[in-house]
Amino acid sequence: MGALSKIIGLAIAAAGAFLLWWGLTPEMEGLSLILFFLGIILMSIGSSILFSGKSRSEKEEEPEPPTVTELQCQNPNCDFKEIRDFEKGDYILKEMEQRCPKCEGTMMIEGIYIVRKEEEKPEF
Ligand SMILES: [Zn+2]
Repeated sequence: MGALSKIIGLAIAAAGAFLLWWGLTPEMEGLSLILFFLGIILMSIGSSILFSGKSRSEKEEEPEPPTVTELQCQNPNCDFKEIRDFEKGDYILKEMEQRCPKCEGTMMIEGIYIVRKEEEKPEF
């Protein structure tokens, strides 16, 4: 994704530069101001895509902290708990479509935790 956004950003910036140059040609008198501004806008969009693409690819190099989701059965007579990998769209107190494997009760997200592999020095 990073390389593609870089190409798109470059293409938009190049198109903006072309419009800028085109707006400066004397035969485009009437449209030159519009082309000039369009060129500036396109160049800024292109460079922002370039910049965001760069920072995104830098982020990709860092491994995301492993996040887990804790599901709990809502049946008071059953205390089934399941911890699985965090999935997009998970939020605390979300009712899950999946049912409790023990009692077919409703499962709800009780917590979302970030698991730290390397434990930092305890403060106390
Ligand atoms: Zn249950």
